Amino acid sequence: MRLIKPIKVECLNCKKQFEIGFDFECVSTDERQMGTEYDYEGEYEGVCPCCKKEVFVRVEAFEYPKGCVNYFGARPDGIRLLEEPDLEAETDE
Ligand SMILES: [Zn+2]
Repeated sequence: MRLIKPIKVECLNCKKQFEIGFDFECVSTDERQMGTEYDYEGEYEGVCPCCKKEVFVRVEAFEYPKGCVNYFGARPDGIRLLEEPDLEAETDE
């Protein structure tokens, strides 16, 4: 799982808009009818480039069936997502 492009976000403190990017890692798998389901999580931890306030977001997405991305949701803290993450299933064999 990877981000195709950075996510646009807005700082809740100063309203500055900026972009964030991060990597995903597989946190669990589940054997289902059409094969393995992979549960991915990506986290961003940083500071607003304008007001330096700490910001955080955790994004969760599944790959199931293989090659298909199912965006599950995001839990942001200190920022608001201005768009849904653009995700791509990327299977490393
Ligand atoms: Zn800010």
